Amino acid sequence: MSANRRDFIKFVVAGAVTAGCPIDLSLVAQTGDAQKSHGADVDGEDNRICHQVRDGKVFTRPPVSARHDVVIVGGGVSGLTAAYRLRHRDFLLLEKEPHWGGNAYGMEYEGSIYATGSAFLTKDEHAYAFSKEIGLEPLPVDNSDASIIRGELVLDTWGDGLNKLPYPAPVRESFKKFKKEMLAIDVEKGGKEFLDKPFSDFVKGYPEELKQWWDNFGPSNWGAASEDTAASVAIFALQDMAEESAKDDRYTWPGGLGAITKKLAEILQPHKDRMQTGATTVAVVSEKEEVQVTYMLGGELKTVAAKAVIMATPKFITRRIVDSLPDKQSDAMHQIRYIPYPVVNLIFDKPVFNHGYDTWCPGNAFTDVIVADWVIQKQPGYQQKFNILSCYTPMPEENRGYLLNEAGARKVAANVLSDFQKLMPGLNVDPIEVHIYRRGHPLYMSTPGLYTQVQPLVRQPLDRVFFANTDSEGPESTTNGGILAAQRAVKEVEARLAGRPAPKQKAVAG
Ligand SMILES: Cc1cc2nc3c(=O)[nH]c(=O)nc-3n(C[C@H](O)[C@H](O)[C@H](O)COP(=O)(O)OP(=O)(O)OC[C@H]3O[C@@H](n4cnc5c(N)ncnc54)[C@H](O)[C@@H]3O)c2cc1C
Repeated sequence: MSANRRDFIKFVVAGAVTAGCPIDLSLVAQTGDAQKSHGADVDGEDNRICHQVRDGKVFTRPPVSARHDVVIVGGGVSGLTAAYRLRHRDFLLLEKEPHWGGNAYGMEYEGSIYATGSAFLTKDEHAYAFSKEIGLEPLPVDNSDASIIRGELVLDTWGDGLNKLPYPAPVRESFKKFKKEMLAIDVEKGGKEFLDKPFSDFVKGYPEELKQWWDNFGPSNWGAASEDTAASVAIFALQDMAEESAKDDRYTWPGGLGAITKKLAEILQPHKDRMQTGATTVAVVSEKEEVQVTYMLGGELKTVAAKAVIMATPKFITRRIVDSLPDKQSDAMHQIRYIPYPVVNLIFDKPVFNHGYDTWCPGNAFTDVIVADWVIQKQPGYQQKFNILSCYTPMPEENRGYLLNEAGARKVAANVLSDFQKLMPGLNVDPIEVHIYRRGHPLYMSTPGLYTQVQPLVRQPLDRVFFANTDSEGPESTTNGGILAAQRAVKEVEARLAGRPAPKQKAVAG
C-alpha cells in the first residue's frame, strides 16, 4: 500500500504504556537506585503522575482520612474478582486507568465489540465455571486454528493441515515427526524438569520453518520465543491443539474475555462509592495494626487505612509501591519479565476475513489474527456490520520504546496493516479505521524456572498485605490465573482477619 493511500485511513492510538511508575520517591531517597532502574521508561499512561515522578517530585503521605476492611489495588480481572468475593465487606478498590478490566478489556466501534487483550478461555479452567457463576454464558469457538503460510491458508494447522503445509515435503514430514514426539511426552510425569528446561531444547535439529512457527505462536500466548519458554508450557499447548482438532474446548464472547470484567464491574455497581478509577496507588506502608495506602486521585494525594490490602497489580509495579518487602521477595518480583504487547484492530465496513477464529501468520509484524465476532456469527439473524480483526502484536522487549509515543505506536499499527494486506490474495483492502491499544508490560513471559522457583516466592503474604494478579500464579499469564490468584488472596485475607493461620498455598497450574 502506498503511503498516500494509508494517509486516508484513520488511526486511533489508545491505551497505556506503563513502566515502573508510580513510585514513591521517598523510598527512592532511601534506596538511591530506583531512579536509575527507572530510566527512560517513565512515561505513558497517567502522565501527570509519572512526569511528576520523573521530574523528582517527592510524594509526602497525607494523614489517614478513611478506614476500610480491605483495600484492593488494581482493577483488572484479579482485583475485580477479589472485590466480588469480598462484597460482603467494606472494601475499597483502586484502579489507575479510567476504566476497569486491565488486560481483559473490550472496546466498541459503533456497537461492534472487539478485544484489546485477553481473547479466550478453556472449559477445564476455573474461569469457565466462574463466568457462569456471574451470569455469563460462554460461547464455543468450535474451530481449530489455521495458519497463513507463504500466501496460503492452511486450515487446522496441527491436525489435517500438516499434510497441506506449503513447504517442501521433508519440512512437512518434520512437522509431523515433531508433533508425534511431543504427543508422546508425559509432561505431568516429567514435572519440574520440563518447567525448568527451555523449549528450544526440543526444537533443536528441526527445520527453521518449525522454529519460526513456534517463535510466532509462543510470544502471542505466553510472551516468549522458544529459547525463553519453559518447555512444558509449549508442549502442553501442542497437545491441546492436537485435541482441539478433534474437539475444540475454547470459549469466549465477542470482544474476548473483557466480557468477564465488564460483567464484574456491573455486578459491583451497588458498591460504586467504594470503587475508584483514575486512582493511582503510590505507597503501601504496613503499620502495626493496619496498612496505609496512599493514592493520587484528580491531582490530590489521599491516604486510607485498612486491616488488609490485596495487591492485584503486576509485580514490576507492586515491588515499587509496597514498603519493606523482604529483599528475596522483591528480587523474585524483579525477575519476572514482561513483554510489550499492543493489539491492532482493523475495522472493515465489509467482510474481508472470516475464515477462522484464530489464524497464525508467522513471519509478519503480528502473530495472529482473531475475528472479533466469530462466536456470534452463526447465531440466527446475526448480520455482521463491521468485520473487525484483532491482530495480536507481541514485541521483543527491546522494542518497547516504539510504544512510548503516538508516532511510534502509529508506525507499529501501520506495519501490521501493511503485512496483513500482503498475507494472501483478497486481503489488500483498506479498513475504515485502525485502532492500536498499546500496553508496555501486560504479559509476563513463561520463562524456564519461573513457575517452580520465582512465583512461589512472589505470592508470600507480608503480614496484612496479600498478593493477587495472574503473575502470582503461572505457569502462563491467563485470565484464569488472575481469578485464582484473587480467590487465594481473599482466603488469606479472611484467615488473617479472623486471626487464623493463612491457608496452605497450593500451586496453581495454568
Ligand atoms: C494481548 C493479550 C492477549 C491475551 N490473551 C489471553 C487469552 O486469550 N486468554 C487468557 O486467559 N489470558 C490472556 N491474556 C492474559 C490475561 O489478559 C491476563 O493474564 C489477565 O487479564 C491479567 O489480569 P490481572 O487482573 O491479573 O492483571 P492486569 O490485567 O494487569 O490488572 C492489573 C490492574 O492494575 C492496575 N494498576 C497498575 N498499577 C496500579 C496502581 N499503582 N494503582 C492502581 N491500579 C494500578 C492496572 O491498570 C490494571 O488494570 C492476554 C493478555 C494480553 C496482553
